[in-house]
Amino acid sequence: MLELRPNCECCDKDLPPESLEAVICTFECTYCSDCATNTLAGICPNCSGELVRRPVRPVAKLLRNPASTKRVLKAEGCTPVTVA
Ligand SMILES: [Zn+2]
Ligand SMILES: [Zn+2]
Repeated sequence: MLELRPNCECCDKDLPPESLEAVICTFECTYCSDCATNTLAGICPNCSGELVRRPVRPVAKLLRNPASTKRVLKAEGCTPVTVA
C-alpha cells in the first residue's frame, strides 16, 4: 500500500491524497508536478527512477487506510539527475 506522503520532497508543497498533482517513483519519493516536470525532468533525484502520477485513493478507502502525515523534505532542495 502506498504511504501517500503529504508533501513534495523538493518544495514542501502540500499534496493531499486527492491531489492530481502528486507524482511518485517506485520507492514513493513524492513530488509535485511542477518540480517533477520543471526541475527533475521526470526522473527521481534519489533513485534515478521514473516519476509517474500518484493514483488517488478513494475517500471511502482513506477512512480505513489513511494517508501518511509524516512529511519528507530534502533540506538542501532537489537537484536534477544529470545523465552522464
Ligand atoms: Zn515541488
Ligand atoms: Zn526515488
